[in-house]
Amino acid sequence: MPLKRLAKFFAGPLPHLSREEALKVFKRDHFKCYYCGLDGLDKYENWLILTIDHVHPHAKGGARSMNNLVTSCQPCNLIKGKRIYKSLQEAKEYVLTKREEWRQVFLQQVKAE
Ligand SMILES: [Zn+2]
Repeated sequence: MPLKRLAKFFAGPLPHLSREEALKVFKRDHFKCYYCGLDGLDKYENWLILTIDHVHPHAKGGARSMNNLVTSCQPCNLIKGKRIYKSLQEAKEYVLTKREEWRQVFLQQVKAE
């Protein structure tokens, strides 16, 4: 894999964010997913899936400023998607509700098989 693609793969969806900017957000958030609380310092595999989430989506004009960026694990970032929420709290509630729905699918339809 070419180095640029490899870097993009590991950096995750970080449009126009430098590694320094991303690290600033990670440090402010103590390397924890804002949504589910996954601890990126707990183990390497957790750290690998940390991304930076644009609270107001980058794709919809969201700013790159610190107050529009939070640490998010990849699953939470994916679940949150490009929807626009009234507040960060509303986004968190949406993500946690969806995660719980998927947990029920996992428990009842996947693991039970
Ligand atoms: Zn998460």
